[in-house]
Amino acid sequence: MKSKRKLNTLGLFLIVGVLVATVVFSIYLYFNAKKKKILSNIQNEIAEVNKYYVYGTHFNIECMIDNLESNNIKDIKYELVDISENEKEYNAIYEIHDNKIKVMTSNKINEGIYLEDIESGRYILLLKIKYLDDKVEYYSMDNITGYQEIEYYTITKKNSNKKVKIEFATYNLDNKNIPYIKLNVSKVRMPEKVYDISIDPGHGGSDPGAVYDKYKEAEIAMKYSIELKKRLESIGLKVILTRDGTEDTSETSKFNAYSVYDFDGRVNVVGRAKVKYNFSIHINSYDTNTLNGTEIYAPSNVSLEIAQSLADNIVRIANTKYSTRNTDKVSDGVYVRTFKEDEIAESAKNARKKGFDPYDITSSTPYLYMIREVGGIVTGAYIDGRNKDYGTNLYYNSNIGVESYLIELGYIINKNDLKNMLNNQSAYIDAITKTIEEYICK
Ligand SMILES: [Zn+2]
Repeated sequence: MKSKRKLNTLGLFLIVGVLVATVVFSIYLYFNAKKKKILSNIQNEIAEVNKYYVYGTHFNIECMIDNLESNNIKDIKYELVDISENEKEYNAIYEIHDNKIKVMTSNKINEGIYLEDIESGRYILLLKIKYLDDKVEYYSMDNITGYQEIEYYTITKKNSNKKVKIEFATYNLDNKNIPYIKLNVSKVRMPEKVYDISIDPGHGGSDPGAVYDKYKEAEIAMKYSIELKKRLESIGLKVILTRDGTEDTSETSKFNAYSVYDFDGRVNVVGRAKVKYNFSIHINSYDTNTLNGTEIYAPSNVSLEIAQSLADNIVRIANTKYSTRNTDKVSDGVYVRTFKEDEIAESAKNARKKGFDPYDITSSTPYLYMIREVGGIVTGAYIDGRNKDYGTNLYYNSNIGVESYLIELGYIINKNDLKNMLNNQSAYIDAITKTIEEYICK
């Protein structure tokens, strides 16, 4: 009896094993056949990818194709084709240079392929060209950059996350290796060290920021940041602070304006947490009492909806005003601060004096480091350790960038602004949360 049962168990185990193997192998064959079908539609010519990155919640890609019929193009799209051959189209913009076509998802770094709403599944990314005579061509893409594959975790919604993996692969079709881009999207539990959003309370340590009377920017920003974190957590987001306010505030503190690029400095805290968005909280100052109101600083080359919404909501809900400052202003309450020519020259001069090669800064490089450095290659991050006065931004060369905004709540030297900031904190927090709910948790 005993040995018979043992045999039965063994037999059952074998049968289940063979069944599982057969199912797995069939699925493999099915996917392989589908992949073959999708990739056999493509042109012989392969598009070359010059640039690809994620910024915030969007994936952007730029590639070049040789195309002899470039004069007859009706339109070009990026196509995400799933294994059942369903196609999802994404707009592309393109420029024709002789017979070469440069195709981009967008010229705004926070637009392109929105990664948050792609269903779980396996996809191949292709380029689809439609001609004036209704002919259609598909192109596969090959990576000629040295950039890393992308692993992206979606923003936490209803306690759940997806992982989007974007990689370059090859498929052997009739003895020819065809390069292609694949996207795998799957439901996952978000790793412990990954967060949705970082909040960066400005200054801290030996650097109090703007000071008026007994009030210090670093302290007010800290209070706001702690409350904002709590509020965002209450709507289900996973939030990390770049400092917690317990740092040494003496004049000799190791936590200072130079330590932002240290291993545990605010820039690297944000990079390590793989957040999608960063919000820096600051209080403004000016040498005369002529300015007041709220300013939102945004990166260059972004679509400004989030920045505008932050400004509008704060002004309306916290009963403040759009800033009266005109320098670097783009629209009411929205500012883009990039390097000016004299600052670029000054930076180069400083580099030569200290004996290192000047940084590659242009007049579209963001001036504020929490906007520039956390954006990686997309925003022109450059603190790579060559200046020995600073640490290193470990993510300066990353193609996964954090979309970052800096909020100047108001002017510490203006009576009304200061009173409002001290007494009306929860309204400011309501306003910022409203934008985040509308644009980020959607
Ligand atoms: Zn500040």
